[in-house]
Amino acid sequence: MRVAVDFFNQVNLLFGSITEFCTNESCPVMTAGPRYEYYWADGEKIKKPIKCTAPEYVEYLMDWIQSTLDDETIFPARVGMSSSSIHDMAFLLLPSAHSRSCPFLPLADVPFPKTFLPAIKKIMTRLFRVYAHIYYSHFSKIVDLGEEAHLNTCFKRTHAPGRSASLSLSLSLAR
Ligand SMILES: [Zn+2]
Repeated sequence: MRVAVDFFNQVNLLFGSITEFCTNESCPVMTAGPRYEYYWADGEKIKKPIKCTAPEYVEYLMDWIQSTLDDETIFPARVGMSSSSIHDMAFLLLPSAHSRSCPFLPLADVPFPKTFLPAIKKIMTRLFRVYAHIYYSHFSKIVDLGEEAHLNTCFKRTHAPGRSASLSLSLSLAR
């Protein structure tokens, strides 16, 4: 149940720790190994995917996550969610939300919008790209910083049998 929450926090933490090493110069393209290159598009402000550096991609992603959370057609304030902070997303990522029984949300009379789960999956997919970029491009720095254990633990947890398909790295890489 806490896997998604842990993952979100972990990605933020890990990227924060390597920010000074992940620059426009060191990472001129958002990649996850030699086979995967990611262009940014949010489908609204930027419809046609654009090539960007890794830090630019992460910035676009965090802005997009924030505005997605602020979109009341996806995450209505009425169901009790405060989306003013990006950290509030942790509560939205609880797997129990899949069964519409999230204890944080009084859902008895307010149904989830149909866009809720697709939005969560998209957020997770894109967060995985950041994780994959850190893994492939900054693994040695992570080791230097002594955060290797965190990186691996996070990876194993999210790939344990029975986890949601939306949490699959292979899925996120394939898109
Ligand atoms: Zn980088």
